[in-house]
Amino acid sequence: FQISFPSPCTVREALTLYYDIQGPVKQALLKHLIPYVTDAEQLAWLNNVLHKDNRAVLKALSEEHGKNLVDLLTNELSSCKIPLSDILHIVPFIQPRYYTISSSSSVHPDNVHVTISITEFEFKNGKNFTGLTSGYVTSDCINARVFVRPSSFRLPAQLSTPIVMIGPGTGLAPMRALLQERKFQQAAQKPATAPKNVLFFGCKHRNVDYIYRDELEAYQKEGVLTSYYTAFSRDTKNKVYVQNLMTQPDTAKELLSLLIDQGAYVYVCGATAMGTDVMAAFVKIFQEQNNMSAAQATAFVKELQDKGRYVQELWTA
Ligand SMILES: Cc1cc2nc3c(=O)[nH]c(=O)nc-3n(C[C@H](O)[C@H](O)[C@H](O)COP(=O)(O)OP(=O)(O)OC[C@H]3O[C@@H](n4cnc5c(N)ncnc54)[C@H](O)[C@@H]3O)c2cc1C
Repeated sequence: FQISFPSPCTVREALTLYYDIQGPVKQALLKHLIPYVTDAEQLAWLNNVLHKDNRAVLKALSEEHGKNLVDLLTNELSSCKIPLSDILHIVPFIQPRYYTISSSSSVHPDNVHVTISITEFEFKNGKNFTGLTSGYVTSDCINARVFVRPSSFRLPAQLSTPIVMIGPGTGLAPMRALLQERKFQQAAQKPATAPKNVLFFGCKHRNVDYIYRDELEAYQKEGVLTSYYTAFSRDTKNKVYVQNLMTQPDTAKELLSLLIDQGAYVYVCGATAMGTDVMAAFVKIFQEQNNMSAAQATAFVKELQDKGRYVQELWTA
């Protein structure tokens, strides 16, 4: 048995910092508890939850009721007398969460910015949920181990190569870093023609969750952002998202010219579903504006990906 955290440490430290006792309960973990449940009724409840015909009950336990191991051991399975050493064998470790760096190291050489959306919602039974990491970073006392891994987002070698950024919500994080870097490069290289930086940003409400509004509007005024498209999905009667803006006729023509004639690089960041819709929007643009078949348009996007000209960083909320 190998432990992958600083040891020795107190039981409190192990259970708060390293073991995921608050995550959604999984079938495998519940099965391990069976031998330790001493109350007959509770054991029957557990066996019932684990019965192969009751998958929906198990799913609802975490997805609808937000039950974690601590909840179960203090309520439904309070008779479970499991020794600490056994708990440590069956509970998974807390997994790292990834956050995209949202600052340029040229502009901020001594620190790193991140842009974190706090995961908060209510389960069907009214229980409030706050994400483990996004909730933790807003607490007063932060003591977290941080790792850095290389980004897949690389700017084109030439400042003259246009970039198209699609980053709604916290998907804006890497775009903010790219914009800082492009502005820095522009100031250093002083090119005769301003480099093209195109951004699609979206959020629910202009006046509620429009992050970095001042910075983005300043970039637009300064001409760092040469084209800037915004979608505030809940401010309009019909929900409009970034992918809907892309396929508007004039915008589609602009995107086609940037990608086909000017060798633009595309960066997409944010929710997985958005990434799928954005790719479908590009396929549609190539079909409708460039007379490609669906297969040709899809192959073209794939080719861009292979060449590192279409890069995505997507996650499931
Ligand atoms: C490559 C990459 C880059 C990313 N970049 C960013 C970024 O720049 N900014 C950003 O804000 N996010 C980013 N993310 C997402 C981020 O890593 C986290 O997933 C997000 O912050 C949620 O983590 P959390 O610990 O706050 O929530 P968690 O505690 O992990 O909860 C996440 C979800 O798990 C479920 N869950 C957890 N516990 C329970 C339970 N007991 N019962 C039922 N359901 C449960 C819920 O559905 C909840 O919504 C990125 C992800 C990836 C993969």
